[in-house]
Formats: sequence, structure tokens, C-alpha cells
Amino acid sequence: MKKIIIAIDGHSSTGKSTLAKQLAASLNYIHVDSGAMYRAVTLFGLKEGLISETHFDVNALISAVQTLQMEFKTNENQTTALFLNGSEVSSEIRSMTVSNFVSQVAAIPEIRIRLVEAQRQMGAKKGIVMDGRDIGTVVFPNAELKIFMTASAETRAKRRFEELFKNGQHVDYDAVLANIKSRDFKDSTRKKSPLKQAKDALVLDNSALTQSEQFDLVLGWINAKCQE
Ligand code: C5P
Repeated sequence: MKKIIIAIDGHSSTGKSTLAKQLAASLNYIHVDSGAMYRAVTLFGLKEGLISETHFDVNALISAVQTLQMEFKTNENQTTALFLNGSEVSSEIRSMTVSNFVSQVAAIPEIRIRLVEAQRQMGAKKGIVMDGRDIGTVVFPNAELKIFMTASAETRAKRRFEELFKNGQHVDYDAVLANIKSRDFKDSTRKKSPLKQAKDALVLDNSALTQSEQFDLVLGWINAKCQE
């Protein structure tokens, strides 16, 4: 079967990465979670003191992103993980502190330009599933299959809360819901590459779908695209 590019965009916590991971494993494709890259830049900024409650050093972040090494590699548990300057950061990038600052970092045009360039290189050979906010609109406008995922804010907050709880992070549900709503707003209204549905994207509202129903539905879409 021919290899294609699958672009998955949509709101925060709609399960884009979970679906992308399942698809990549079943098709033997590469999976790139582009949000993890924006999170990694944010984590770096927090650790280096470039970002805090009272301070946000845009210029230092822009210079840092030019030299940061980001690589998706298989970790010791045989899952694909993001390595930042050689160290795995998969769980640190999911913290609430990173979540609270990431949309501000992702709104910086110079940072987007650098990460989009890296993402395009990763997809040069096709056979890739990439998830994010601007994959079908900016990164791969010619992707063969574009999916736009959505679900109600409450459904998404519940899922994110359960995921954080499972990882030992005991946070307040209302804080998770507020974070999701605030990221929806910032991601959809920013000037550079706002989150919006590509004209040719297929909409996947998974509020009432199980993971396996969703998977089967999307596999059907992929089969149809690969035969075109
Ligand atoms: O996908 P995830 O929720 O982990 O992404 C974290 C944040 O990174 C998003 O809220 C958004 O601000 C930013 N992002 C982006 N463009 C992408 C992927 C993520 O702006 N392609």
C-alpha cells in the first residue's frame, strides 16, 4: 500500500496523540507528537529561568530554540519518546506548569518557524502520522488525509484529569478544565497559525466514541485515501 501523510489536528486533550500512536503502530508509520516539541521548548525555558510567573524572556527563548536538540526515539519501554538534548522528557513535559505556559511559547512566530521546519524534515519520506494544531493547515497542507478532532471541553478535562491522576499528579479538576478552555482560546485566536479546521479535513468528534470505534472509523478513511 502507498505511504501517505496523515495530519491530525484539533483541540487540546481530544486524544490526538493516542489515535496517532495507534495508527502509526498498525501501519508501521513514524509518529510525531508536535505538541511535545512546543512543550519541550517550554520545559527548557522554565528550567533555565527564561519563563516564570513574573518573567517571560521571548528573545532568549528564540535563541535557545535554534540550538535545542529534539529527537523522537524508542525508549527502554519500547515506546516512542521525546529526547531533549539527549534526555527523555516525556513525563516532565506533561506537568501542569508546562501546560500553563506552552500556548504562550507556541504563539512566538520565530519558534513556530523553527519547529515547523524540523517537522517537515521528519515527514519528507511520508509514512508519518503527525498530530498538533497546524499540521493540515501549515506543516503539511498537501497531506493526503487530514483529520480534525474535537470533543466537549468537559469530556476532555475528565480524560486529562484521569491521565494526570494515573501518572501520580493530583490536580484539581476545575483547574484542568480552566486550562483546557484557556488553551482552546489562546490556540484559536493567536495571530500566527491559529488552530482552525483545514477545508479538506474530516471531522472526528469523539465525545461519544470508544477508542476502538474511533480507530476502525479512521482506518476506513485511510484505506479509502490509499486507494485514490
Ligand atoms: O498537543 P498538546 O496539547 O500537547 O500541545 C500543547 C500546546 O502546544 C497546545 O496547547 C498549543 O498551544 C501548542 N501546539 C501548537 N501547534 C502544534 C502543536 C501544539 O501550537 N502543532
